[in-house]
Amino acid sequence: MSGRYLKKRLVGAGYSAGIFNLAARLAPSGRYLVLMYHRLGDFPEPFQTPVTIGDFEKQLDYLRSNYRIMPVAELAGSRRENAGADSRRLAITFDDCFTDFHSRAFPLLKKFDIPATVFISTGFVDSDRVPWTDELNFLMKETAVSGISFGGKEGGVKFQWRDTAGRLEALEGIKRVLKRLPEEERAEIFQEVRERLAVSKKNPSRILTSDQIKEMSAAGVSFGAHTVNHVILTRVEPERARREIEDSKKQLEELTGVECAGFCYPNGEADDFNPEVRRMVEEAGCAYACTVLDGVNGPETDPYALRRLWTSERRLPFFAARLARTVVGL
Ligand SMILES: [Zn+2]
Repeated sequence: MSGRYLKKRLVGAGYSAGIFNLAARLAPSGRYLVLMYHRLGDFPEPFQTPVTIGDFEKQLDYLRSNYRIMPVAELAGSRRENAGADSRRLAITFDDCFTDFHSRAFPLLKKFDIPATVFISTGFVDSDRVPWTDELNFLMKETAVSGISFGGKEGGVKFQWRDTAGRLEALEGIKRVLKRLPEEERAEIFQEVRERLAVSKKNPSRILTSDQIKEMSAAGVSFGAHTVNHVILTRVEPERARREIEDSKKQLEELTGVECAGFCYPNGEADDFNPEVRRMVEEAGCAYACTVLDGVNGPETDPYALRRLWTSERRLPFFAARLARTVVGL
């Protein structure tokens, strides 16, 4: 029996025996998970995310019978509230939702009556623009060229690809290079990248419209701020960072008529926020902020640096195992 086969069998057995559920129950008390989802398509899409709407439906069904699903705002409460609480609690969040969220994920959330929070960069609402990282996904999928170089002044950076795997690797590489740049320079170089990729087709994707946001907010979906322009807050001047945070919160509140308690740092890695940015979010009146740092939260967690769990795992037993492992802290 191969090691891989054995692992598969054991995970399957653990899943059917409810071991993962037991693991979550035995974890130190007061812990909670915040799941992070992005786009969900009808089939696995390597340029977006492999998790499909069908996988999501199965995951929701599993989650609602094995965890208590709550809004992030309720979980990110005080140390006192979380101490001693059951560790089978979790929240579901989505970043940068497109119009298809409304037709695909929203009906499932309604059907199962599951609370979810969506983080939106308000500057893209009702426009034909999308955050540059999503635009780059589209351009790299569509381009007919097999390599580019850009940023000529300092000798430039060069990427080449032959197949889909190479394309995906180049996509991640280009993102890494651009994310390190100050926002203004990043925007300039992105234009250069766009020209080099020479895609004439227009990106058909659109961020959620204001009508969709209003409808879903009225139906109980929570919306959280995610800046206006999806800028990395440590790559802009502090004054701009503050405006991006405050304006996105205000614009969402105007749109939904509901107080916006949540914030999510664009890109959300350790370098993408700092104590100054964190303080701005708190001063803007948000009650918590999400990162993309992997892990579980507990009574000791700073509510302005919530860890989240993202998994591309499509098979339910492995998805269940990943959650249980994270709750226990493995
Ligand atoms: Zn985002």
